[in-house]
Amino acid sequence: MINKPELLSIKLPEFIEFLKREQIKKFFFVYDDEKNSIETSHKKLLKIADYFSQDKRDFIKHEGWFCKLSENYDMLLGAFIHRTNRGQAAGGVRYWTYENAEDYFRDGLRLGAGMTFKNALAGLWWGGGKGVIAHNPKYDKMDSEVRENIYKEYGEFMSSLNGCYVTAEDVGTSVDDMANIFSYTRFTTCIPQKFGGSGNPSEPTAKGIISGMEAALEFLELGSLEGKTVAVQGLGHVGEPLVGLLLNKDVKKVIGTDINPDNIDLISKKYPDKKLKCHFINKDDVSIFSTPCDIFSPNATGAILNTTTIPLLKTKVVCGAANNQLEDMYQDGKSIHDKGIIYVPDFLTNRMGIVTCANEQYGYVNNDPLIENHFRRDWEHSIFNRTIQVLKVSKEKNIPTAEIALKLADELSFQNHPVFGHRGKEIIRSLVKSEWHQH
Ligand code: NAD
Repeated sequence: MINKPELLSIKLPEFIEFLKREQIKKFFFVYDDEKNSIETSHKKLLKIADYFSQDKRDFIKHEGWFCKLSENYDMLLGAFIHRTNRGQAAGGVRYWTYENAEDYFRDGLRLGAGMTFKNALAGLWWGGGKGVIAHNPKYDKMDSEVRENIYKEYGEFMSSLNGCYVTAEDVGTSVDDMANIFSYTRFTTCIPQKFGGSGNPSEPTAKGIISGMEAALEFLELGSLEGKTVAVQGLGHVGEPLVGLLLNKDVKKVIGTDINPDNIDLISKKYPDKKLKCHFINKDDVSIFSTPCDIFSPNATGAILNTTTIPLLKTKVVCGAANNQLEDMYQDGKSIHDKGIIYVPDFLTNRMGIVTCANEQYGYVNNDPLIENHFRRDWEHSIFNRTIQVLKVSKEKNIPTAEIALKLADELSFQNHPVFGHRGKEIIRSLVKSEWHQH
């Protein structure tokens, strides 16, 4: 195993100083499958390339990642392209603060691969990738002038990549930011509705979670949602419509928690139903995990299923929208599995955000089949069918559900786009050949 290069451990501002000193404004790392190693644009970055070539945690033969140092703000703009067999890499751009370059690269790599698997399981003809902007804490994150400039610069950066990655909204990025990206590139989705975008996807996301819940209940031969008790953690954009849908399904009880009292107020007023009990809680309150229920639905933050919370669970099923619910996909996935609880993988059920954005440029029709298919029971890629398939194989092989879903997604992700083939990789090769980093 290669020792970690110092460049990856130093603080991110020091890494940026290094880039400036070496006059590296743009750089890339591209995987060469013949040599089974990562090539880089700059000799000075070779140790990083070699280090990640050996990495077993976050590097999964990513086709390439491209970075640019912002012109005015000492921020890093990055596009992490995982796999483009099914089409251009698609996934949102995150605006986040990082300790060092290793954290930054790892987050991009992990999130990029996650999008490959989510898109493939959803049957989308898109590959997977993610954008990450490393925020510079010297600037207020909400400063509108800085945001406008940085997202416009990100749009230019997208154009320079010739379409191997198509960006979208993600954590830290707003609709206004997307408008700024869109003003500089065609390679984006999730644009504001006034420009022809698809709008807030939270309701379809909630509907997708219902499909996942129904599949798990059917698999357990427990019938429908009628008469069931559901505990919902997080009553925000997804949690709120989810509660409405559950009440419409005639559940016995919905117990909801949120750390924001305004959301509790809002939801109690919107659904004055005796079956709904909502509680404002402190951030450290874990009582929702030990609430006896048929389904526990996490719709707040990630990594909430871990060695502390899993032993508390008193549920038959876990199914929610929060991204990366398992703190450790393998160990925590196994603990839930061993407890006999059905865990419906988040990247299978919370796909509707990317699904609604994905086909924006193909226009809209009423009751759009490209959307509705995902909620049906007679389309192979639907949330219901894929969930049943994963749960069946998991039971047959006695392997945790997330691992099964990942394996299936991996297989699907190698199918080539029926029209454009593996064009994303061709684009990456062209960028390298034309020395993208020099222009
Ligand atoms: P949101 O920010 O609108 O809602 C999250 C809610 O969780 C907030 O109201 C927040 O106060 C609450 N919360 C935070 N910590 C909590 C805790 N410890 N206990 C209880 N409540 C807590 O976000 P959202 O758009 O509703 O998304 C929820 C999750 O689903 C996120 O993980 C998001 O990444 C994921 N997701 C959302 C979509 C979408 O369409 N919005 C799509 C895919 C995945």
